[in-house]
Amino acid sequence: MNLVPEVVALVPEMRSWRHHLHAHPETAFEEVATGAFVAERLRAMGLEVHTGLAGTGVVGVLAGQGQGAGIGLRADLDALHIREATGVAHASRHDGRMHACGHDGHTAMLLGAAAALARRRRVAGRVHFIFQPAEENEGGGRVMVEEGLFDRFPMRAVYGMHNWPRLPVGRIATRTGPLMGAFDIFEIVATGKGAHAAMAYQGRDPMLFAAHAIQALQTIVSRNLHPLAAGVVSVTQVHGGDTWNVIPEEVVLRGTVRTFDPEVQTLIESRMRTLVEGIAAMFEMRATLRYERRYPATVNSAAETAHALAAAAAVVGADGVDADPTPEMGSEDFAYMLQAKPGCYVWLGAGQGPESPGLHSPRYDFNDDVLAIGASYWVTLAEQQQSA
Ligand SMILES: [Zn+2]
Ligand SMILES: [Zn+2]
Repeated sequence: MNLVPEVVALVPEMRSWRHHLHAHPETAFEEVATGAFVAERLRAMGLEVHTGLAGTGVVGVLAGQGQGAGIGLRADLDALHIREATGVAHASRHDGRMHACGHDGHTAMLLGAAAALARRRRVAGRVHFIFQPAEENEGGGRVMVEEGLFDRFPMRAVYGMHNWPRLPVGRIATRTGPLMGAFDIFEIVATGKGAHAAMAYQGRDPMLFAAHAIQALQTIVSRNLHPLAAGVVSVTQVHGGDTWNVIPEEVVLRGTVRTFDPEVQTLIESRMRTLVEGIAAMFEMRATLRYERRYPATVNSAAETAHALAAAAAVVGADGVDADPTPEMGSEDFAYMLQAKPGCYVWLGAGQGPESPGLHSPRYDFNDDVLAIGASYWVTLAEQQQSA
């Protein structure tokens, strides 16, 4: 392990920032105190600070020695609507809200990296420290891009990081191409004709539609996709009916689709439409499909991934780097930044053993052992990039 000495000296401070943020979680676009906390610390480090991006977002700028377009390093500020069950001393003081995805740790590591880089004064071009709101569900990253993040702060590449409890501490993994999936949602409303359940022949039963549709939707991945293409179709909600002896008028199905490739995404959506219409016709009722594309896939560019892997190897050693991990179908709104700029998103190993709770668990707590590793990666990446 090759930790940056200035980062190691900052570990107690990073830990106390992290615990403060953990105790005071704020959810999507409401990260007012969190954004103010970040801005105050960046100012104290002597950085130029811009607030109010996408509402609560903050950008700190460290001027380098040269004139290069510079790079962006990004962390996320938001917590989740989860009631914490960790029992730790720094547990959430905000009932029903919790940092269960480690964004408290991401913010603390990027602050630590900013402090260390400001002290070391070794970067050639500008470094932008991007603290974005609303990573979970609400697409704060997209809003920042739409509000002109990259016009206001020109940069040639942007980098992201997420702690990864399924990867052991001391490892960093990423790959060129897709690392995380695109995330879509769908809602199917089948409208039949209600009836007394004993006189079913008088109605058009939307329950039948639901039963057939759930089965048929599972044939898209197995029968329509190339065997080496990747896709997930999950029906996660079925709503319909109130009692034993009434056939309801309507049944609602909801769920999510995950893909890496936009062509596969289009194929799945189009097959869903055909199946929904066909099954509705079969049972002589109406059905509508609302299909919404949310986050795109997180796709790393080749040159920036090579930079990220080099920085990772410099910190955790070549043995600690996995340059070809199996991608996951979870998604990330950093994808919007990667659509606008070349860049790379990495998984930072943060596992605390096989029994340790995963992301979004009410028992999850960010692993403080990786604060120095993550912040050292940021510092090394910024300094290697700038001298390149
Ligand atoms: Zn999350
Ligand atoms: Zn997260």
